[in-house]
Amino acid sequence: MSNLSNKTVWFITGSQHLYGTETLKQVDVDSSTIVDGLNKSGKVPVKIVFKPVVKTPDEILEICIEANSDKNCIGIITWMHTFSPAKMWIAGLKVLNKPFMHLHTQFNRDLPWDKIDMDYMNLHQSAHGDREYGFINSRMRKNRKVVVGYWQDKAVQEQVGAWCRTAIGWDDSQGLKVARFGDNMREVAVTEGDKVEAQIKFGWQISAFGVGDLIAYVDKVTDNEVDALYQEYEKLYQVANNCKPGQKYHENVRVQARYEIALKRFMEAGNFKAYTTNFENLTGLSQLPGLASQRLMAAGYGFGAEGDWKQAAMLRIIKTMSQGLSGGSSFMEDYTYHLDPANEGVLGSHMLEICPSIASAKPRLEVHPLGIGGKDAPARLVFESTTGPAMNVTLIDMGNRFRFIVNTLDVIEPLGKLPLLPVASAFWKTHPNLADGAAAWIYAGGTHHSAFTLALTPDFIEIFAEMSDVEFVLIDKNTQVTELKKELRWNEIYYMLANGLKA
Ligand code: MN
Repeated sequence: MSNLSNKTVWFITGSQHLYGTETLKQVDVDSSTIVDGLNKSGKVPVKIVFKPVVKTPDEILEICIEANSDKNCIGIITWMHTFSPAKMWIAGLKVLNKPFMHLHTQFNRDLPWDKIDMDYMNLHQSAHGDREYGFINSRMRKNRKVVVGYWQDKAVQEQVGAWCRTAIGWDDSQGLKVARFGDNMREVAVTEGDKVEAQIKFGWQISAFGVGDLIAYVDKVTDNEVDALYQEYEKLYQVANNCKPGQKYHENVRVQARYEIALKRFMEAGNFKAYTTNFENLTGLSQLPGLASQRLMAAGYGFGAEGDWKQAAMLRIIKTMSQGLSGGSSFMEDYTYHLDPANEGVLGSHMLEICPSIASAKPRLEVHPLGIGGKDAPARLVFESTTGPAMNVTLIDMGNRFRFIVNTLDVIEPLGKLPLLPVASAFWKTHPNLADGAAAWIYAGGTHHSAFTLALTPDFIEIFAEMSDVEFVLIDKNTQVTELKKELRWNEIYYMLANGLKA
């Protein structure tokens, strides 16, 4: 996971010289008090750094250039305590290339009814100072997050924290290295996409490797290392009897331990944070990496099956954004339905690769034949997901643009026991209901794969989409399919005008 201890968000307050030295001193004091309050709130995962109030176009340009070139600055929060004529912001905003948030707050919560005079009015005028600033952002078509409310309110602090988490994800996204072992699954459309455009939009460096490159690492893993890792499995999981030392499938488990060590070393050597596999590209490997990929997801790596690099990268970014929060995140696939109209639901799973960070209980370590691919029976962790609100996130390539699609859902207990299911799973209710949620997802072109998370809410992805200037489609409790179809058509025109239409 990325190291948060040195990441900072800068807090920049705008004003002007009109008010005189005394007022400007007070603005400085008030702003640093807000910064202290946010830092002590426990809601913000990175350090917010107070910056002296900016009063001139030159000061604004200067601090934007500084923010751009400061490696640890992942974004800025802007606030106009007083009126800051917004033409002063044009030069700075033109060059600013870090994400920014507009915190529309006020230093004092309540009006001092019996004491209020024009001095008070002139000091506490963010109500109109922030409107002037908001205009220039809209006039310049700047994507930014606007958070409104009193800075000591929990809900406001949580929104500031969520934005900072998304900025952490955006920072992680820049230069994110994804290793692809083999190519995409043959003939599959939705896992494809424009990797050059992904690097331009999101910063991802996506590189393909032959499986032989991984095998070179597999061959170097020693038996002692494999045995030591197996001991860790014994501690963490309920190992099936036929997987224990001396039993029929023990060697199959050891093979996955070997893969895990090799994959981890490969990723560390190349600084990769996400990877894909493909069961069609396994020449020289006896099993599809199952347990190994589950374990690496749990360690914070992004993963996509069948060459799905878009979901691999998004899973990694979601894990980065959500570090320290409760609720896990996993690669996921809408697998099969329960279509009882009285109690419909989706059983999500994959052929092996579901992350144990979502497990509701100690996972079982088992070995079963895969059924496809013609390889040895792979070891995998089997469990059911914890319950609660969650969402599926996917990224697709529409040809002339990327599109994020988010579908909120509620994970519930499966309606029956699943004694024969040899893979990890999650059972959920799709919003707004299965028919409309699935229809909306399908009209939007959503994948069968997704990055599934119990840790985040849709606003994180909405903000991330705005940071990357990419389309965002939300399917939630309020979605009406007819309206969503219109939104998709309108978006088509918007992005055609904004990006052009590729043939
Ligand atoms: Mn799949």
